[in-house]
Amino acid sequence: MTNPMLAAAAHAIASARHVVAMTGAGLSAESGIPTFRGDDGLWTKFGEPRMDGYQNFLKDPKGWWTREVTHTQDPYVLELRSALEQAQPNPAHHALVGLERLDVLKATVSQNVDGLEERAGLTRLIEIHGNRSKFRCLGCGLRTPRGTFVPPRELPPPCAQCGGIVKYDSVMFGEPIPPDRMAAAQTEIDRADCILAIGTSGTVRPASGLAWIAHAAGATIIEINPNETRMTPIASLSVRAKAVDALPELLGVLSNVVRG
Ligand code: NAD
Ligand code: ZN
Repeated sequence: MTNPMLAAAAHAIASARHVVAMTGAGLSAESGIPTFRGDDGLWTKFGEPRMDGYQNFLKDPKGWWTREVTHTQDPYVLELRSALEQAQPNPAHHALVGLERLDVLKATVSQNVDGLEERAGLTRLIEIHGNRSKFRCLGCGLRTPRGTFVPPRELPPPCAQCGGIVKYDSVMFGEPIPPDRMAAAQTEIDRADCILAIGTSGTVRPASGLAWIAHAAGATIIEINPNETRMTPIASLSVRAKAVDALPELLGVLSNVVRG
């Protein structure tokens, strides 16, 4: 193993009882999905968007859906969407699945909306910011796969179960995280004695706060990120590498440890 920090991370993970991964946009960078922040980030390119997207959606869901079906949303949204449509899971996603199958990884709390962790095969997955390949009803909470979406004559699309307003499952700026997902994430964080923070800048609340809660409760924080982040001060180990390089190597080492 070339990176001494990675060797130390493997050792800490092997000695932990309940490892929870917290993933962010950097995990999917090699799948061709741009991050928000950072040198190649969408906001660096287009500027930071307004943080009241959800409030605007609620004010005028029909207008929002009309912009959606006519592809006239903000430029950064259009660029992110086109990347999401083409993206495939990368070796970092597959390595996480390997760690889950070894039972080394007990759960993954993801901030990503790209659905690539689910597509790669992760099962103990909590997508706290939702999944763009699904719809969610604001009335009854029903989630449905987006599939091939043919916009109905009436916008916004009505929920088949309760007639309520349907939006993408992904959480908008200003939108509360659905309580079922937040509770599930909180349960895993409470159990965790080791958090593996992968490709997240640690800036988006309340997701980033979960790592601080775990740290305060005594969990070891391990970060995999080529750059310093807001979590760096609480990380016992910072592996300065891309997820796509570090995770397959970590899986290789831990496979040997677990299988003896
Ligand atoms: P962020 O954009 O704030 O930060 C990305 C982080 O990834 C940075 O710390 C960066 O240094 C790191 N990074 C860049 N390349 C990497 C690589 N190859 N390997 C590992 N790390 C790398 O992302 P965030 O912390 O997830 O928060 C942003 C919010 O944006 C989230 O809420 C998320 O929902 C949303 N988002 C999601 C996607 C996606 O679903 N793929 C993409 C962009 C933004
Ligand atoms: Zn409904």
